[in-house]
Amino acid sequence: MFLCSFAANRRPATRSACPCGRSAAVISLSRIAQSRYNAQPIVSERSASSDALESLAIGVDIGGTGIKGAIVNSRGDLLETLHQPSPRTTSALRDFVHSLVKRAEAPVRGIGVGCKGIIDAGSTRVKSSPGDLNFLEGQLLSEAIGAGDLPVCAENDARVALIGEVLWGAARGRRNVVMLTLGTGVGGAVLVDGVILHGVNGAAGHLGHTTIDPRGGLCICGNYGCLETHFSSRAIESDYWAHIHRAAPTKLSITSTGELPSSEAIFRVAAAGDECARYVVDRALEYLGAALVSFLHTFDPEIFILGGNIVAAGPQLIVPIQDRVARRTKTLLGREVPIVFQQIVGLGGVAGAAGLVFLKQNLLAI
Ligand SMILES: [Zn+2]
Repeated sequence: MFLCSFAANRRPATRSACPCGRSAAVISLSRIAQSRYNAQPIVSERSASSDALESLAIGVDIGGTGIKGAIVNSRGDLLETLHQPSPRTTSALRDFVHSLVKRAEAPVRGIGVGCKGIIDAGSTRVKSSPGDLNFLEGQLLSEAIGAGDLPVCAENDARVALIGEVLWGAARGRRNVVMLTLGTGVGGAVLVDGVILHGVNGAAGHLGHTTIDPRGGLCICGNYGCLETHFSSRAIESDYWAHIHRAAPTKLSITSTGELPSSEAIFRVAAAGDECARYVVDRALEYLGAALVSFLHTFDPEIFILGGNIVAAGPQLIVPIQDRVARRTKTLLGREVPIVFQQIVGLGGVAGAAGLVFLKQNLLAI
């Protein structure tokens, strides 16, 4: 909720980000953008405030398989990064964050945390986070981290990824933005008139749990036929596996250790002519395109961002989606809404989590 109160200094910030793993070097957002899927150059801009230039914050992104963190300045430069397997205990989380705080060579203004699940941004309480992070449920992240006098703020992981893109990435300067994070599951976040949608219980924007097939299968959320059950890495992998199980002709097979072909491999062989993979990918894209049309009609955003691991599919993913969605939305919206990839690939959640601190302290604004 506090995002809407950052009205005043609307400073265009920019640049910097990084790869996964640990690094002592400053990593530039423009390098990431040009080496990945959004090849447009990013123009660096200086903040008017010397205070803002010197400000540092810790950004932490707690995911189901890994935890990432970085020391970030208010221009979005990631000065030092750290990446480890996800903590399974509160003390492991605390140790991770404290190790980052110790590395800062100047005082930090606070700690921002992105976490999957439903997070009460006001209190930092994890209201719900099913799966491997359920040890955090009911806890205040500010207390779990135990950072003394350092302020801690927290948000859902997709929302911090969106904030990172608005401050320093594909949606710089935009105030109406929708983002989907396409990975093992499908996360979503919505920015309307500069305000992140939270809803009464903090669950607004869970776009991956929009029903796109009333007769579809049961989803982790308890609903049936969600977008996540049709377009996520698990959905694509299980659909391809079903073809293998039925002895359909496929180029990929289950490994000797029982591992299914990955969604990345399925996209790759689809492009190389595997008929089964192409069928699976085309069908998944059809569902994703239908969902995007609905989201555009619902939110009328300036720009739509696709993020998460699946964006590695590159043009194979975005070109058919753009054409399909544009044809179906031009009449109602009166224009073609850009659908772009996340620019801060890999550490967007970390950057955005640090951005929360700068927003809350009015060093930056949306
Ligand atoms: Zn669902």
